[in-house]
Amino acid sequence: MKLYSTNNKNLRVSFKDAVFNSMPQDKGLYMPVEIPQLDDEFIEHIDRYSLPEIAYTIASALLKDEIPDADLKALISEAINFEAPAVKLADKTFVLELFHGPSLAFKDFGARFMSRVMAYFLKDGEQLLDVLVATSGDTGGAVALGFLGVPNTRVTILYPEGKVSPIQELQLTTNGQNIRAIEVKGTFDDCQALVKQAFADDELNAKFRLTSANSINISRLIPQTFYYFNTYAQLKKQGLTDVVFSVPSGNFGNIGAGLLAYKLGLPIKQFIAATNVNDTVPRFLETGVYETKASTQTYSNAMDVGAPSNWVRIMDLFDGDVDAIKKVVTAYRFTDDETLEAIKEIDQKLNYVACPHTAIAYLAVEKYRSENPADESAAVFLSTAHACKFPDIFPEDIAAKIEIPEQVTALESKPKQADQLGIDFEGFKNYLLKG
Ligand SMILES: *Cc1c(COP(=O)(O)O)cnc(C)c1O
Repeated sequence: MKLYSTNNKNLRVSFKDAVFNSMPQDKGLYMPVEIPQLDDEFIEHIDRYSLPEIAYTIASALLKDEIPDADLKALISEAINFEAPAVKLADKTFVLELFHGPSLAFKDFGARFMSRVMAYFLKDGEQLLDVLVATSGDTGGAVALGFLGVPNTRVTILYPEGKVSPIQELQLTTNGQNIRAIEVKGTFDDCQALVKQAFADDELNAKFRLTSANSINISRLIPQTFYYFNTYAQLKKQGLTDVVFSVPSGNFGNIGAGLLAYKLGLPIKQFIAATNVNDTVPRFLETGVYETKASTQTYSNAMDVGAPSNWVRIMDLFDGDVDAIKKVVTAYRFTDDETLEAIKEIDQKLNYVACPHTAIAYLAVEKYRSENPADESAAVFLSTAHACKFPDIFPEDIAAKIEIPEQVTALESKPKQADQLGIDFEGFKNYLLKG
């Protein structure tokens, strides 16, 4: 797979270079020059295959020139070692649970695959890869847990003291092995500033092989296509082949992967982009004007994004043709009040506890159905995180129903390991130089 930059279609880089650079110099995003079509035979019989088999078929179509089959198979079985069930909640209504990985959020798919792709490309004897991440909670957990125990890599994770939830802190600070956590006496912005300064520092770059492993890395997008195919397979087994997906969206990576799956040949009728009041994309599809905004804080905080970084990828997939996008993508926004009402409704009507992000995807299905009564497709709304990660949002009676998964209870007995630092760069630099 060769890649170009969304800002320069003449550029050609290898997959390996795109993975280690994350972003082209011109600040575009990497996209594949060619998107292969999966053969009809595979789609026709997709219900015969397991998630790892489906994942391997897709990954091989994209990456067979870069990673030999046997290695790719091994890499996938290590990275995608948890389920992604489409759970039936009502007639033709399914929730796709993407939270069965170690950090209890869908970002595990991307982070685990990326870490193993990076480790694969680090040949024996090559310099240790140092991943630096600043986190406000969630992304850092997925990256830390994604790299945990991966040979020839080390993760240093900075988080703001007192500003992550107890479960998030457990996920960040109980790992040991190749993961170091630093509790910074400051805000998330301070953490991010420290990491940015480190990437710009000559002395650090001379001594270490630094990477950000950030969320726009192309190797995070590919594994997210797997579960769209796998869900289609699960529904096909039940005789349902007209399918719409509703995707709770912030940076639009998740729905971007869905649209990549569509371009690879997955026959999906419609994608619904569901946002909170950070509605840059729904406004764009309504007005034709793409206007980013500073983000507003909401209950669905992982979607508080005013300038969605992956939108350019979606534009690129459709060659900039907004009408073509609108044929496949419907977008809706919802407020916090609506989110809370939806959480209650999902509990009462469907006997299911949905996290706030998931609740927004549910609302979007309801709205889509009311606007398109003739469309009798099965609807799948994506559940991007486990409800236990957002304990403060639920009314008490619903909170009481949330079961804490064993990934979390297993951490509770482990000691917290975190180093404390202030917000001065010299302190952070000295910490890194000490190794
Ligand atoms: C990151 C995240 C999202 C948004 O996904 P994008 O790919 O950024 O659109 C939604 N829900 C949860 C729980 C997340 O962590």
